[in-house]
Amino acid sequence: MNTLKNWLQTKATILSGHLEKSLMKNKSLKCKVVFGPIRSRRLGYILGINNIKPGICSYDCVYCPSGSKSICTICRTKCLSPYELYVAVKHKIEEIKKTGKDIDYIAFMGSGEPAIDSDLPNEIMKLREFGYKIAVFTNSSLIWNENVQENLKFADIVSVKIDTVNQDTWIKLNRPHRRLKYDTILEGIKRFSKYYKGHLITETMFVKDMNDSEEEIEGLAKYLNSLKREISYFMYPIFPPETNVAVCPNIEKTYKIKELIKKTVKYPVLLCCPEEEEFIATDDFENELLGLVSIHPVRTEAVLQYIKNDKDNLILEEMIEKHIIKEVEFQGKRYYAENAAS
Ligand code: SF4
Repeated sequence: MNTLKNWLQTKATILSGHLEKSLMKNKSLKCKVVFGPIRSRRLGYILGINNIKPGICSYDCVYCPSGSKSICTICRTKCLSPYELYVAVKHKIEEIKKTGKDIDYIAFMGSGEPAIDSDLPNEIMKLREFGYKIAVFTNSSLIWNENVQENLKFADIVSVKIDTVNQDTWIKLNRPHRRLKYDTILEGIKRFSKYYKGHLITETMFVKDMNDSEEEIEGLAKYLNSLKREISYFMYPIFPPETNVAVCPNIEKTYKIKELIKKTVKYPVLLCCPEEEEFIATDDFENELLGLVSIHPVRTEAVLQYIKNDKDNLILEEMIEKHIIKEVEFQGKRYYAENAAS
């Protein structure tokens, strides 16, 4: 009886190994869903999950670094099933550990809105097996929906985007799907903040001449202070956006903003100075870079720092020659970005 049990167990292990291998065959796809680890300005080293099909987001923010959205929808859609995602994350964590490094968080974020994914709770539950805390960075557009609120409850940290409390500014800055209503979203965030038991943080991006006036900031401060939250982060665009209107306010204005925020918002953190970009490179340089640039352009210095040998150098040259990635400049700095035309 025991012999049969052992035989069955061995067969099951072999079969699951084959299944995992076949799931990982299209590695570039998996790497685009599971990216990093990158050093986040808020959470340390995070392994990013971007399980939303490319180009799908309920917003089309002027400062979005991942390129223009071909679809702006509130339909629910994802790339990998919870099991496929589990396998992709498992392999990635194994590769990271081989480099002697580790991560601090697994974070659902990237070039689409994670709350669009109706399987988010199942994915979070499966990924919990790895023992890391889970964060979700949402643009908040669907938080008025009770189901979305329930799904977000599964995460240890939820970061909500609130760039303004003014509907006209929201339309200009976040360019939302036409079915969305801002007063419902703001009410939804408030409701969620009352009953969410994890760590709630907020995120605001200041864009020159859009949401950087005194009146805008005072209105925002009042609203943020009414939420049950831990920290409010404020930042400026640091990656090349799809549109050149999304630029940082001038230096004088940034000082004024800083003073006003310190005076009016409880628990603020200003992430105004772009930090040096860092990511942990495993042996698969090409897919590593592809995964990262699909989320946002990466500083050329950061990429060059992670080239380990001539082979990586050749890969980089080939990716540029084949127009898979391109070099772009933003605010005096050079980046490698995904070539949308490739
Ligand atoms: S910045 Fe985020 S919320 Fe805005 S369009 Fe890009 S992915 Fe969507």
